Amino acid sequence: MSLPIIDTFGRKHTYLRISLTDKCNLRCTYCMPQEDMQFMPNKWLMQADEIQELAGIFVEMGVEKIRLTGGEPLIRKDVGDIISGLGKLSSSLTLTTNAVFVDQFINELKIAGVNSLNVSLDTLNPERFKAITKRDHFTKTLGSIRLLLSEGFVVKINMVVMKGVNDDEVKDFVRLTLDEPNLHVRFIEFMPFNGNQWDMSKIVSYADLLSDINTEFEFQQQPGEVHDTAHQFRIAGGAGTFGIIGTVTHPFCSGCNRIRLTADGKLKNCLFDTTEADLLTPLRAGKDIRELIHGHFHKKHFAHGGHINFAEKQAKTEYELNRKMIAIGG
Ligand code: SAM
Ligand code: SF4
Repeated sequence: MSLPIIDTFGRKHTYLRISLTDKCNLRCTYCMPQEDMQFMPNKWLMQADEIQELAGIFVEMGVEKIRLTGGEPLIRKDVGDIISGLGKLSSSLTLTTNAVFVDQFINELKIAGVNSLNVSLDTLNPERFKAITKRDHFTKTLGSIRLLLSEGFVVKINMVVMKGVNDDEVKDFVRLTLDEPNLHVRFIEFMPFNGNQWDMSKIVSYADLLSDINTEFEFQQQPGEVHDTAHQFRIAGGAGTFGIIGTVTHPFCSGCNRIRLTADGKLKNCLFDTTEADLLTPLRAGKDIRELIHGHFHKKHFAHGGHINFAEKQAKTEYELNRKMIAIGG
């Protein structure tokens, strides 16, 4: 029996996010640099059997939920096999995806017991979609969301809200939740990562989002769990909910239960912590990696990977030392 992963603040880590690749079929401006993006060579990536073995070890250590992410998880050639394999573990399985290729995996997802997916969509305007993602897949993404709903999946739309880019659409996204009980929208504060031109002035804060929504809708906060990243709200008479992930101005670190594994098999104990533990090399050498995992989580900071103030100049330099979001896995 393996010991659970508990950090020095007593937080039990039961939620594993596995990045399958740092590559993507979109080029979202907030997620990756617009020039000189270097992708990992394929030989660096965890293979399907290694992902299965690592996930199995984490499940023995108390992980109850696994999320596949990336880059775009559904562009990996062997993603169907990975989904099927992970679906056999006792943990629950879900994905974060841009949904462009989701129609090809409906059966695998159902068989693996996936019943809810997070889908990224930052605008309801096709031209703006192209400007943000540098690709012309708006119709496909919207069609995928409709397909998932018609197939009975719960869909949580993730919208990264950026000042002057898409913040005029927040209420349109809230309106989507009026009639559809399986559709939830989560507004995410723009976060700083290597190469994404982040600046505090580009954020639409948790407080500003709520007051904007309140100009048109009345809403009530919904009960949540200690580990939740999003505070959830329901508008009066609404079927679905909207939530706000206020990483920067309204952090939720005190209840953190998240473990991150990058596509090249590095363990991260926080999105913003630049220290990593290589799990893939010792796994390939046949070593037991449990002590390594415990040791890395013993070094976990209470909040934001040890960065105190997002707006500070020094912190901004530190974010540049971190990975690009596309190479971490959100
Ligand atoms: N390709 C998939 C997708 O877009 O859903 C999965 C990977 S993506 C890195 C995971 C999530 O991170 C997406 O919801 C995306 O919107 C979010 N994300 C990426 N960069 C971000 C940033 N700078 N700030 C906040 N959220 C970000
Ligand atoms: Fe790709 Fe997702 Fe990043 Fe957009 S947010 S570039 S879809 S990984």
